[in-house]
Amino acid sequence: MIDVLVIGGGPAGAVVALRLAQLGLAVRLMERSTFPRPHVGESLSPGVWVHFATLGVADRVLHAGFRMSRQTLLRWRGQTERIVSERPSLIVDRGRFDALMLGAARDAGVDVRQPCAASAHDLGEARFVVDASGRSGFTRRTRRPVASRKIAWHARWPDARGESATRVERLDATWLWGTTLPDGTFSAMAFGSGEEPMASMLRRSELFSRLGDPIDPPRAADATPYVCDDPIDMRSAAVGEAAFAIDPISSSGVQAAMASGIAAAAAINTILRRPADASAAIRFYAAHVARTSERHAAWAADSYAAAPPKTAEPIAIDDGALFAANTTAVVTAPAIRGDFIELVAAVRTRFGDDVAFLEDTALAPLLASLASPTPARRIVDDWSRTMPPSRAAAVLTWLVEQQVLIPQYPRPTTADSRE
Ligand SMILES: Cc1cc2nc3c(=O)[nH]c(=O)nc-3n(C[C@H](O)[C@H](O)[C@H](O)COP(=O)(O)OP(=O)(O)OC[C@H]3O[C@@H](n4cnc5c(N)ncnc54)[C@H](O)[C@@H]3O)c2cc1C
Repeated sequence: MIDVLVIGGGPAGAVVALRLAQLGLAVRLMERSTFPRPHVGESLSPGVWVHFATLGVADRVLHAGFRMSRQTLLRWRGQTERIVSERPSLIVDRGRFDALMLGAARDAGVDVRQPCAASAHDLGEARFVVDASGRSGFTRRTRRPVASRKIAWHARWPDARGESATRVERLDATWLWGTTLPDGTFSAMAFGSGEEPMASMLRRSELFSRLGDPIDPPRAADATPYVCDDPIDMRSAAVGEAAFAIDPISSSGVQAAMASGIAAAAAINTILRRPADASAAIRFYAAHVARTSERHAAWAADSYAAAPPKTAEPIAIDDGALFAANTTAVVTAPAIRGDFIELVAAVRTRFGDDVAFLEDTALAPLLASLASPTPARRIVDDWSRTMPPSRAAAVLTWLVEQQVLIPQYPRPTTADSRE
């Protein structure tokens, strides 16, 4: 009997299989299509590089001939702006990208069966089954829509007519996205209720109206965001779009699918090898899926709102201010420690996330060191015994922003209260 069967070889399936094989488990992956195969989702958000580094595939991706895109022509509130990002998006051909990731899983020892459609009788051959079959959802877990129904029209053009920047444009209740792919063709999508044909939306636009005829007629895909409230149990889990789908406006679906694969691998490793911590592992992964879905839904709602999203004011910490630990913010929560999930002391942020470590710094012990309200300067000096002062100041700032440390305002003097 194998340890884990993964159904589906897209980014989520390849990542969970690769990670589990790196952890020494016997993994089989079944992918029904022959790769490379076409797939929507060609613009990868910059956060994917952290996952490539974690998985040891950054060099392969860097040398695969994909395209970096820093510039976006954005027409969202009636005006066109050219935005230059510090961190570029990675533009890929998803057929080649998915094949590369699956190749990395195979090289790590995963038994990849392809083309091979999984069926119900395959499920009994493994101690644990991972559904990574994308929107088709092989194991039919219940999913809850988290936004109204969305349809995406997509098509390709022979070239971008001279503009290499990614284009994003809003038209009433719909929006358009397009970019040049690594092979020089131009890929565009139109998101809306699906009632208006893509050609009509393109004609109404400023940034897409001169594209001419597409290579093939536009095709429609379901892009409705959803979440599964029960993505894991003792014998199975769903990852990537088998567990949740986010609004494509963030271009972060692949990043989120990869992150879910990495988180699920730690949870599955714990369930199979440290059964005493299995319930912490299940809680950890269920919270990961719920948080990813909620955060993206809130972000998408802000992006569609008429007013620009509010950005938080940076908090200025003055050397003399006193800060006290918010003791209700210290909780026991499941977190990744090494290759497993364990219950650890963490701090609850104002967004409800439980964070045990900020990079390598354990946060709960720092709070425990603040028995009484302490001036900012002294906190930084004390913490600088175990970390560089700039790091201590950054951790203090983050804890104040998250309301884990609370500023203590001096009581008004009699003179102040008379004014
Ligand atoms: C219109 C649209 C635009 C998008 N644009 C972007 C974007 O620009 N950037 C971005 O990051 N994300 C984007 N996304 C999201 C992105 O495509 C997904 O988040 C990502 O593909 C999810 O990866 P996955 O591995 O979960 O699923 P998939 O990539 O769909 O992979 C699932 C795999 O499972 C296989 N499979 C299914 N059933 C079986 C079976 N029974 N047996 C064996 N194999 C099976 C399929 O063949 C497939 O290869 C977009 C999504 C949509 C709908």
